[in-house]
Amino acid sequence: MKRIKAGAAMLMAAVFMAMTLAGCQKQETENGETETVAESVETASEQEDADRYAELVDDDSVSDKLRIYFMSISVPEGTDDKAGDAAVMITPDDKVMMIDSGHPESSDQVVDFLKELGITKIDAYVESHPHIDHIGGFPAVASAFEIDHVYRTNVEHTTKTYENFERAIEEEGCPVTYLKDGDSLDIFDNIHIDIYHPEEEVVYPEKFPEGSTQFLNDESLTMKITYGESTILFAGDLYTSGEDDVLEKHADSLQADVVKANHHGRDTSNQKDWVEAVSPKIVVAMDETMQSATIVKRYTKQGADYYTTAINGFVRVAMDDAKNYEVLTQKGEALDL
Ligand SMILES: [Zn+2]
Repeated sequence: MKRIKAGAAMLMAAVFMAMTLAGCQKQETENGETETVAESVETASEQEDADRYAELVDDDSVSDKLRIYFMSISVPEGTDDKAGDAAVMITPDDKVMMIDSGHPESSDQVVDFLKELGITKIDAYVESHPHIDHIGGFPAVASAFEIDHVYRTNVEHTTKTYENFERAIEEEGCPVTYLKDGDSLDIFDNIHIDIYHPEEEVVYPEKFPEGSTQFLNDESLTMKITYGESTILFAGDLYTSGEDDVLEKHADSLQADVVKANHHGRDTSNQKDWVEAVSPKIVVAMDETMQSATIVKRYTKQGADYYTTAINGFVRVAMDDAKNYEVLTQKGEALDL
């Protein structure tokens, strides 16, 4: 929050300075010129505020591409947890894969967005790990859409939210596949998916679920999607300790051009070795607030453009199968810190 406020304050200061400059010029120049400066300030700030939501959900121009939508969702003030991750991938032949579905309190926003995209059926639903800000929206999504297949980890939790998730899968009556390191999926034409984590055997901590946040985050599904030469990586909320495990097994395979920032872009995660191994072109963090300038800089120094739904709203990344990527944000541009 601090960061956004600081950014907004800087923008205000810049606008104020520009206005002051315009004011100064007024004394020295013709009125016409003064207006030109004021107008250009106004145009710049209008562009800054431009909302491209309508353009983003109208995917006619990218219908022959693979596209991934990173959702900008929120929870009402006073909610214990964050809104979390919800992303959807649509293939060139319009197959739909959803990856996580956010907090239960954001589920209306998730369902509405899927409807705006014209989605009527979800071919594959993928769960990263059983925390509320990742599985919470599932029951609402399952009751609004037909889901063909659920892919999930074998990691269980003890919460009411987890019970609701399991019950909704049961009620949906669709097949479930448990994913683990070494698995791969070829469920969409020309798209290959490799699973790098978690391990098959889940060893729960002694007092589970007490103090299990890090354990559950470190069990996050790690999945690399390959479409021709184009690559995408999702690794849920891995902390650095979980990243270490994945690096140990798969460091040489992790490179991906489009990447979801681990754990909403927090500095519990996204360690230097990870960022170097992944070496992405485009990074998107999903959260209501921008988390860590250090992490943004770590990725941008590695050559990536960094986006966060906190500042950019919804983010769409469209690609062909030859590493040509197109990013469209609802608001603003890649972060420049
Ligand atoms: Zn999370």
